[in-house]
This record gives sequence, C-alpha cells and structure tokens, in this order.
Amino acid sequence: MQIPITRNPAPKAKYTNERTLGFGTVFTNHMCIIHHDEEKGWHNAKIISYGPLHIDPASPILHYAVDIFEGMKAYRYANGEVGLFRPEQNAARMNRSAARMCMPEIPEELQLQAIETLVDLERDWVPGSEGTSLYIRPTMIGDGSRLGVGPAPKHIYYIICSPSGPYYANGIVPVRIHIEDAFVRTVRGGTGTAKTGGNYAASLLAASIAAKRGFDQVMWLDGRENRYVDEVGAMNIIFVIDGKLVTPALTGSILDGITRASVLTLARDAGICVEERQISVDELFEASAAGLLTEAFGTGTAAIISPIGELSYKGRNIHLGKEIGPVARQIYDELTGIQCGRLADTRGWTRVVARG
Ligand SMILES: *Cc1c(COP(=O)(O)O)cnc(C)c1O
Repeated sequence: MQIPITRNPAPKAKYTNERTLGFGTVFTNHMCIIHHDEEKGWHNAKIISYGPLHIDPASPILHYAVDIFEGMKAYRYANGEVGLFRPEQNAARMNRSAARMCMPEIPEELQLQAIETLVDLERDWVPGSEGTSLYIRPTMIGDGSRLGVGPAPKHIYYIICSPSGPYYANGIVPVRIHIEDAFVRTVRGGTGTAKTGGNYAASLLAASIAAKRGFDQVMWLDGRENRYVDEVGAMNIIFVIDGKLVTPALTGSILDGITRASVLTLARDAGICVEERQISVDELFEASAAGLLTEAFGTGTAAIISPIGELSYKGRNIHLGKEIGPVARQIYDELTGIQCGRLADTRGWTRVVARG
C-alpha cells in the first residue's frame, strides 16, 4: 500500500529546548491515518496534518471504549541516524490486543511501513540529548454510527508522535509505591493482557487516592485472591530476591511488556538467574525481613526502568533505598545503551529508519 504524504501547509515551529519537553504535550505537524471497514478492509492510508479526527458521536470508541494503542520510541543516535527499538514487537502486540477487543488485525508490515514513513518525515523532531526521544503512539479506535453493543462497523488506525524530554531530568529517584488492597486493575480472563484504554480509566481512582497519600504509584495485586503481585502503575514489575530476578509470570492479567522481555533477556545473557512465577505480598515481606529482597523496579517504554524505593502495605513498609540498585543500574545502562545506539546491538533489536 502506498502512503501518500500531504505536507502540513501551516507547520508550527519546532520546540526550542528539548530538555524541558516533558511527556505527551507537544506533537509533531503530521499524523498517519488508515481506515478500515468490512467491505474494503484496510484502505486509504495517508499522512496528513496533525489535527482533530472526524468521528460520529455514536462511535463505539466514545461509548464502549473500543480502543487499543501502542507506545514506542524513536531515538537519535550520535551519528544523526534515527532508530526504533523492536517495533515489530509493538506491531505484533497491537494485533494481539485487536484480537482480544474484537477489532480487526492490521498487517504488521503495514504498521511498520506507516510508523517508519511518519518517523522519517518527522525526523527533525527526534531530539538527541541524553534520555530524550520521539514518543510514537499508534492507536486504533472503533468508528461508525452504531449504539448497539458489538464489534464496530468501521475502525481508524492512526499514529501521532510526541517529542519527549528526559524522563529523569532530575536524576533517577526511586518511587514510593502503595500496594493496593482494595481496587484491582484487571482479573485473569479480563482485558489486562490487551493494551486498551479501559484498563487505564479503571486505574485512575486508585492512583489518585494513593497520590493524595503521598505515593507515586500503586502496585496492583491479582484480582482473585488479592495476594499476588501483578504490575505497578502501567509498568511490569521485577524484584531482585537473593540475587535472582523474580517477576510475575504472564498468566492472563498482565501486559506482556517489551521492556520486561528485553530486561529478562539481558539478565539471562549476563548470567543472572530469572524466575517468572507468582509472587505473594507475604513473600515480599518475608524476603525483606531475611535481607534477601534487595531491589524492585518497574519496566516500561516511558521510564525504561523505574526503581522502587519504598513499598507500603496496610501500614507496613519495605524500604529499598534512596538510590537505584546495582542490578537495575547495570540493566538500565545496557538497555538504554542499545536503544540509543551507544552499545552494539547483537540481537537485532534496533531498526534504523531509512531516509525515504
Ligand atoms: C504498556 C504497558 C506496559 C509496558 O510495556 P512496554 O512494552 O514495556 O512499554 C506494562 N504494563 C501495562 C499495563 C502497559 O499498558
């Protein structure tokens, strides 16, 4: 499929200071959009000016949260080239989310072509200093004019790009986590394995209550027994227990994070033992009391690694230190080094965006 480009006739000026961009508030001048309906399948791919979407007020996205998305980053290498990190993993996950939400799968090749064409067009907007990136947000929504509950008659896939400042502008500071004992994010068999907006909407209340109590994020427990660790905020979670990396197994309520998978691969390759299994809150407190729980950190595309300094559960606390731990540090340096092109990529994880 050809993706014709119509250049923005009134482009806005580029940001002036990439260190103060923050996250998700500045967008580039173009977006890619592809339509789908039952008759034509995916059609009419194009790159146009960034701007409002035209959707019917009866669209399923607006009433029934028929929505999935991805999040990935383009990095500027020291030689000026722009590279993506494992974008084919995002494309594959988009389709797993689509299948779960009764939305049409979109060929991975078409997704990658759309992402690369757009990033190539916007390459001047990929910041280059330490920790910065162009955040890419592919999204699919259910469109059409139908209030009856069922798969949407039409869909829109679109991609927007947002230049982002360094996540750790003030250095890496470990976060305070409230272990949530009342609200749950999802349950096994629910939509936790799909990257769908409803999971986020459902998480807002617990996060805002925790924030009022001075916590940065919540740790979610399983929705059946309220005992086992699922995720932290919108990140996967990894513990260092007795020198091993221990993380919840992907048993049907957890999102299969690409950062998580990459961290586990780097750890295994470095000779660190990795366990994917159930972890109860009781085990965390026991391991901590025995001096075996030495680190905990979240993993996700936004922060890459977010070290946890404190875990709080029903008035009891685990303190893990005021600085990033040595295992998290080692993996963070290696992973970000590969992502930014500083370290050799021996696994075929990076993909240079060719000049179109
Ligand atoms: C996106 C996401 C993650 C992290 O996935 P990455 O592929 O590493 O960015 C983890 N948990 C949830 C709930 C997410 O939505």
